[in-house]
Amino acid sequence: MYEPKSLVEDTSQASRTSGGQPRQRTLKSAINCTGIGLHSGKKVTMTLRPAAPDTGIVFRRIDLAGGGAEIPAHWSRVNDTRLCTCVANSEGVAVRTIEHLMAALAGQRIDNLKIDINGPEVPIMDGSAAPFVFLIDCAGVVEQDRPRKAIKILKTITVEDGGRVATLTPDSGFAIDFAIDFANEAIRRQELSVQLAGPRFKAEIARARTFGFEHEVIALRAAGLAKGGSLDNAVVVGVDNTILNEDGLRYDDEFVRHKVLDAVGDLYLAGYPILGRFQAHCSGHAMNNRVLAALFADPDAWCLVPASESAALPAPAMTAPARRAIA
Ligand SMILES: [Zn+2]
Repeated sequence: MYEPKSLVEDTSQASRTSGGQPRQRTLKSAINCTGIGLHSGKKVTMTLRPAAPDTGIVFRRIDLAGGGAEIPAHWSRVNDTRLCTCVANSEGVAVRTIEHLMAALAGQRIDNLKIDINGPEVPIMDGSAAPFVFLIDCAGVVEQDRPRKAIKILKTITVEDGGRVATLTPDSGFAIDFAIDFANEAIRRQELSVQLAGPRFKAEIARARTFGFEHEVIALRAAGLAKGGSLDNAVVVGVDNTILNEDGLRYDDEFVRHKVLDAVGDLYLAGYPILGRFQAHCSGHAMNNRVLAALFADPDAWCLVPASESAALPAPAMTAPARRAIA
């Protein structure tokens, strides 16, 4: 497998301006991939294109008349969080299932990108962010002549809904504490605390796949959803609580790692990387979006700052409250 060295170099001093300030980044060249939409089951081609400084991440639906309805990847554009994260522009043009791609962009520190897509849904690939990380690595990354900014969390913001809780709290880097608690014997309670600066996302989170339950898959199909879902793009827990995928899990705690992956992608819809700690109990796309809405509703809770040295440097080792082997 092609494994460029540029990412390693890009997290070093080479990523800084002369003042030690991290710079914005985009891709060195355009790159595309083809896959199927998880819910539509339809083939879709997506092209990641370099974009100018301060563009942010912008989707373009090139299949529509006029050839380019743009949809900014921004929390305020989220219009559906059932099963996936969906963003839409003011005309209602939408793109679904953006979260794993957004996670890869956050993890690989891509600030500016135009994403051309010829359908309503980002391809699901293998159900993780790893294929998108690979695409980014293949295209290469360039630094741009503009400092990188970050959203610094200044005070604790919490949203709750039933037993679900999502909190953003001040921290010197970007960290996630995530806990899930399923009655299902194959999952049960899983917790993970991870610092996500530097190469950690790629090494420890990116390969975790989305997951579902066999009985839910049957119900979703009956409702016309998850048409593209298969054991090639999701971990499926069978009705007898076994993992139906022939090769089993990629990590012992792949389920909670995928929830961390989803949170990384959803939180990148803030428009900038976050300098803060995200703490979640049984959170999902809806709660991830609600905590951003609550944050930005309070002007005293955040400020835009230059991205710090600490946020760009490799962080201390990951710790798990209940230590588990890393596959
Ligand atoms: Zn996901």
